[in-house]
Amino acid sequence: MKTLKERILKDGRVLDGNILKVDSFINHQVDYKLMDDIGDEIHRRFLDCKVDKVLTIETSGIPAAYSVARKFDVPFVFAKKKVSGNIGDDLYSTEVFSYTKSCLYNVVVSKKYLTQGENVLVVDDFLANGQAALGMIDLVEQSGANVVGVVALIEKAFQDGGNILREKGYRLEALASIEKMDVEGIKIK
Ligand code: 5GP
Repeated sequence: MKTLKERILKDGRVLDGNILKVDSFINHQVDYKLMDDIGDEIHRRFLDCKVDKVLTIETSGIPAAYSVARKFDVPFVFAKKKVSGNIGDDLYSTEVFSYTKSCLYNVVVSKKYLTQGENVLVVDDFLANGQAALGMIDLVEQSGANVVGVVALIEKAFQDGGNILREKGYRLEALASIEKMDVEGIKIK
């Protein structure tokens, strides 16, 4: 997606530990026009599919999930990060290893909001090693719903997540795919 790629090249900053900082337009301050375009683009890519719901993970996936859900005219749900082990029966729950914080945490979705047979599009801001996406897929599959596809606004293609998801047979769409990055610069495929 041209506008997203240009914005990453203009405003993205590379930090130690292979972290791309995009907090001036996605992760902290949010550019709503860019999010509108992102929603349009994801909608265009999945026009061939029936999408009943969009699932993301709090917090950074929420603006994009909202934008694409609006285009499909369906609800979006965000999986909540829950540190406590005290998880009730009315929740689907899974463990995710956080790439940025290097720790394991629980993510949960109320059983009310994922239903057997629904077609769910999974959306996240970044795809690195695929743990967040796999966690969301697990939540969808626990409910008996179907994963229509996985969308990463930014895939770091030099990490394993993309291959893991494709090998498992999930349809993956990345709006911008980073081939390599270091303090010298960012190379987008
Ligand atoms: P994964 O679970 O695929 O290893 O990592 C994806 C998750 O970690 C995303 O939900 C995102 O919040 C975070 N993440 C991974 N890489 C980056 C990065 O380079 N920059 C930022 N801002 N977040 C990242």
